[in-house]
Amino acid sequence: MNAIPFSPDRGMAAVELGTIVNGLSVDVEDWFHVGAFEDVIERGDWSGLADRVDRNVREILDLFDETEAKATFFTLGWVAQRHGSLLREVADRGHEIASHGWDHRRVYTMDRASFGEDLAKARRAIEDATGVSPTGYRAPSFSIDQRTPWAFMELAEQGYTYSSSVAPVAHDHYGWSDAPRFAFRPLPWAQLVEIPVTTAMFARRRLAAGGGGFFRVLPYGFSRWAIRQVNRRDERPAVFYFHPWEIDPGQPRVSGAPLKSRLRHYTNLEHMAPKLRQLIREFAWGRMDLIAYREAVRLEAELAADKVPA
Ligand SMILES: [Zn+2]
Repeated sequence: MNAIPFSPDRGMAAVELGTIVNGLSVDVEDWFHVGAFEDVIERGDWSGLADRVDRNVREILDLFDETEAKATFFTLGWVAQRHGSLLREVADRGHEIASHGWDHRRVYTMDRASFGEDLAKARRAIEDATGVSPTGYRAPSFSIDQRTPWAFMELAEQGYTYSSSVAPVAHDHYGWSDAPRFAFRPLPWAQLVEIPVTTAMFARRRLAAGGGGFFRVLPYGFSRWAIRQVNRRDERPAVFYFHPWEIDPGQPRVSGAPLKSRLRHYTNLEHMAPKLRQLIREFAWGRMDLIAYREAVRLEAELAADKVPA
């Protein structure tokens, strides 16, 4: 496995090798970048809107320090270009900076050439801000699915070692419902590993259980049950994500968006930080590059044993 550029002790303070470490991730975007508001807020107006990402990410960094958690920050190039010192601080405090694309365009709305440009533009902004090249990618709104067979090829060609861009579930805004639930190699010729966001099984149905609105809106017990199921029954790592605006009850309110979007966006913002603390304390967490490394080793071993991955 020499080809995988990772040292397993990086970013792993309190977690022993052998325990299941779950992937902790933050999608770094501001309140006005979210897909739910894209019909109400023009991209051209973004620069004039109240910037909340700096204060929110700093609050998250303090929360992670307090709970000794290390995480991956999937960052928009648009944000990286404007917040270089913030990104350097994220990296200095032991976290991974990865790419969330340039300006939150869903992958299935692009063709391969424009996706390639989006990736390259985001990479340049992150490199200029931090001096580090991202090796991980998360598609905006988990928008890699059966419509984008070229997306993994483009990621592999641009040197990414992992992606966490698939939601293997049926959902009203996204989802690739028959994708594998756990890490897989989408291309036989490349090292690239896709690590889908977590789902749990209930009555033979897949339930979205990897964070975002579900974590915020549903009782904490649901997430505990789901992650335990994945760790104990499936013996696999869970992948959890949230956004900086989700811990920010003081963000400006968008009035023109559909009621369903507003309900989903604004529910329980004030309870998010204590809920996150509980989640981080109850399970073992690490950066996504660690999860990718471990999953790549596992897939290699399965391949060697000629076993079909689950
Ligand atoms: Zn996003």
